[in-house]
Amino acid sequence: MSSEDEEPCSSTTEGFDFMKNENDETQLCLVCLKPAVGKHYKVPACHGCKSFFRRAILRNIIYPPCKYEAQCYQNISITNRPQKCRFCRYQKCYDVGMVAYFLYDRRKSENGMKLIESVSRFGIRDDITIIDDLISDLSDLDVKISEYRVSKFNPIKHPDLETLIKSPNQLHQATHFEKMPGWPLSQEEFIQQQRRLIEIKIRIEGSQLPAETKLEQFDIKTKEWLPFDMMMAVEFAKTFTFFDRLEFSDKLALMKKSTFMSLALTTAFNSYKAKMGIIQTPDGACISGPTRNEQAVRHFERVMSLRIMEPLIRDKFTIPEYLLLKAIVVCNSASTLSKHGQRIVENEKNKFGKALLEYCFLQYGKKEGGARYSKILNYIDVLEHYQRDFRDFMKTLQIFTPNLIPESRRKLQNEVLCLEE
Ligand SMILES: [Zn+2]
Ligand SMILES: [Zn+2]
Repeated sequence: MSSEDEEPCSSTTEGFDFMKNENDETQLCLVCLKPAVGKHYKVPACHGCKSFFRRAILRNIIYPPCKYEAQCYQNISITNRPQKCRFCRYQKCYDVGMVAYFLYDRRKSENGMKLIESVSRFGIRDDITIIDDLISDLSDLDVKISEYRVSKFNPIKHPDLETLIKSPNQLHQATHFEKMPGWPLSQEEFIQQQRRLIEIKIRIEGSQLPAETKLEQFDIKTKEWLPFDMMMAVEFAKTFTFFDRLEFSDKLALMKKSTFMSLALTTAFNSYKAKMGIIQTPDGACISGPTRNEQAVRHFERVMSLRIMEPLIRDKFTIPEYLLLKAIVVCNSASTLSKHGQRIVENEKNKFGKALLEYCFLQYGKKEGGARYSKILNYIDVLEHYQRDFRDFMKTLQIFTPNLIPESRRKLQNEVLCLEE
C-alpha cells in the first residue's frame, strides 16, 4: 500500500480547498483526536483523516486486517495516540459517522443501512467544507474518466445498458492501463484508423476473425468514442450512493435520460480545457468516424459542436462549475421514473444545485453569484438541444448508411439516444 495513506494530520490542504472554515479550530478530529479543520464527510476531521477516508472510498481500497485486536482506534486520547493501522482507522471513520456521496465498495453489512440513512439526512448548509469535499470527490472521479479515455483500454464489444448498469463499477481500475501511445493522431491517421477499427469489429461479429482478437494486434490507436464515452458516463453515474438506492427500472430510465448529456458535457469541457473551439476526442481528432457523404456530415457535426462549445468559452466555465453541473445533469430526473425514484433523484439534484449556488456566491459575491448560477444551469438547455439534434443526426445517418456501425455498438447507442422508440 502506498505511503501516502500515512499522511500526517497536520499537512496543508490542496486542490479545491478554497473554503476553509476558521471557526472550527477548537474542535477535534473524531477519528484521531488531532485538531479538526472543519467538518468533512459530515464529521469534524483533520486533513489527514479526511484525505484518508476519501482515498479509501474513491480508490476502493480494502485494507489488510488489523494485526492486533482491531481496537487500535478505540481507546485513544490526546496523550494516547493510535497505532498506524489503516484497517482500524477506516473502521473508525465509519463508526464516527463519515459518509460519502460516492461509493465504490458496496458494504451492505450493518454499515449499509447507516450509510443510507445518513446520506438522506444530509443537508448542504451543515458546513461549507462539504462543498469542498464534494468538488474534490467529483474531481477525483473526473480524473479517473480522463485516465480511462487516454488509456489503452479499448473494448471490442460495448455492452448494452442493462449489462453496464448491473456490472460492478470499473472506474477505480483506470490506473491499471497504460497510456495509448502515438497520440495525437493526425486527422488523416484518425480517419484511416477509424475505418480499420470498424472493419475489424464487423469482421469479428461476422466470425471472420476469432472473438478473442485484440485490437492491439492491428495497431489500432483510436476508439469508438461515442459508445466508449457512453460507457464512461454510466460508470460515473454508478459511483453515486443514491444510484444504489434506485430500482433497476429507475436506473435504466435515468441512464436513458442523462447519459448522453453527461458525456456531451464531459467531451465539450475537455475540448474547452484543451483550448479547442470545437469538440475534440482524446486522440486529437475533431470529427467522428468515416461515413459516406463525408463533407455534408462533417459540416453538420461542426455546426452542432460549435453550438455546445460556445457557451463554455463565452462564460469561461470553471472546473468546479463543470463538475457540479455534471452531477446535476446525472440527476436529471424524468417522468419515466417511478414516483419513489423521482423523489430520490430530485432530492439529490437539489443538493448539488445548492452546492453550485453556494459556490457561485462564494466565488462571485452575493450580487453576481445568483446570475452566475442561472447562467451555468442554462447550459442544461443547450445540452438538451444538442441531444435532440444529435439524435436526429444519428437517425438520418442510420437510414443512409445502415451497415456502417458494428452491431454491439448499435444496441447501446440506440438505448442511450432512444433511437428505437
Ligand atoms: Zn484525524
Ligand atoms: Zn488495528
